[in-house]
Amino acid sequence: MSKTKLADNLKRVRDRIAAAAVRAKRKPESVRLVCVTKGRPDAAVAAAIELGQIDLGESRVQDLQTRVAKLSEYLTRRTSGLQLSLQWHMIGHLQRNKVKPLLPMVHMIHSVDTLRLAESVDQAAGKGGRKMPLLLEVNCSEEPQKFGVAVGAVECLVEQVATLPNVELRGLMTMAPHADRAEDSRTCFARLREVFEDVVRAGRAGPGFRDLSMGMSQDFEVGIEEGATIVRIGTAIFEGV
Ligand SMILES: *Cc1c(COP(=O)(O)O)cnc(C)c1O
Repeated sequence: MSKTKLADNLKRVRDRIAAAAVRAKRKPESVRLVCVTKGRPDAAVAAAIELGQIDLGESRVQDLQTRVAKLSEYLTRRTSGLQLSLQWHMIGHLQRNKVKPLLPMVHMIHSVDTLRLAESVDQAAGKGGRKMPLLLEVNCSEEPQKFGVAVGAVECLVEQVATLPNVELRGLMTMAPHADRAEDSRTCFARLREVFEDVVRAGRAGPGFRDLSMGMSQDFEVGIEEGATIVRIGTAIFEGV
């Protein structure tokens, strides 16, 4: 594992995020980088944390559990208390029976796509005495095999989720279809932003509704140009590390 390579990658990604934000006439701080750690060695993830990376993402509950346990052990040995400031993001498909163990570990859930799932989160959050931040995953490309609520059903789901007392609806998330060129994701991201703006204009969500999670290693600059406030990046950070 090369810490120098990791530091270079992370710096390059942060610079590219800042440049894309400036191109879009936005402040670089308006985009949050979630470092996606799925499948990466613990040592590399720990090194990213030591380089100041606080927001981290995993796509499976089991992996997140293992990771949190391993890293808090590691970080307690290295630097007392640092792990307290970590913010884990659940970015993958979530099953209702996994909600309960997930909640205490996680800062935000990006992948809520049904009312039933939102209700499970609401119940578990209520028992834990907390208000859980979440995003609704939207299937902007309308590929039938993909998770996410259909574009036409977003407003209705927003309205329903907004009534749940123990969740805080923060915005929308999408994954563009796999493509070779970043530009191919633009239509999908622009679509998500339109849906987001429609929801805001219709007064369907509260003031906390302000996030758009869109853009991965391949297409995060396009995501930012189209209004992303959160990008989820793994490969560009860990490649060759
Ligand atoms: C894996 C994953 C990412 C990161 O993908 P990279 O191409 O490695 O940057 C982002 N979002 C989700 C939902 C993922 O599963």
